[in-house]
Amino acid sequence: MSRKPSRRTADQVYRVGRSPTGLGLFATAPIAKGAFIVTYCGPRISHAEAKRREARGARYMFELNSRWTIDGSTRTNVARYANHSCRPNAESDIVRGKVILRAIKRIKPGEEITYDYGKEYFNLFLAPSGCRCTTCRKKRDRGRVRRAPHRRVSVVGRVSVA
Ligand SMILES: [Zn+2]
Repeated sequence: MSRKPSRRTADQVYRVGRSPTGLGLFATAPIAKGAFIVTYCGPRISHAEAKRREARGARYMFELNSRWTIDGSTRTNVARYANHSCRPNAESDIVRGKVILRAIKRIKPGEEITYDYGKEYFNLFLAPSGCRCTTCRKKRDRGRVRRAPHRRVSVVGRVSVA
């Protein structure tokens, strides 16, 4: 008897890699629309504690419900590497008390996995220096002088993901 490909969604379909904005999460296999990608994990803390940590520079707080926030700062929380995009291919959702990322369109291997961080985060952290997601960068580039066509520039320099 052949084995059923059960727990297929539990297989890791991503890796952490370099993105134009630092590190990012990239698909290593085709991900179907609607498929679970990864859980955003970390300890549950109170909103008050989350505010304190944010004031000290923490950037990976995810509000779970009216009571708890997940502090996703730990390095084992691979989901934290998923960058924001204004035209994302994934979304965050809360399923049975857990924050997960799920594909909202078909994602091809090698594609960066992104989701919309939401208005609050956007206004607080992204708007001040300009959103650097692919969509926004393209929009800005269109308004500029044309560059050398499709020159790939490697990202050199230190990446800080503290
Ligand atoms: Zn953007």
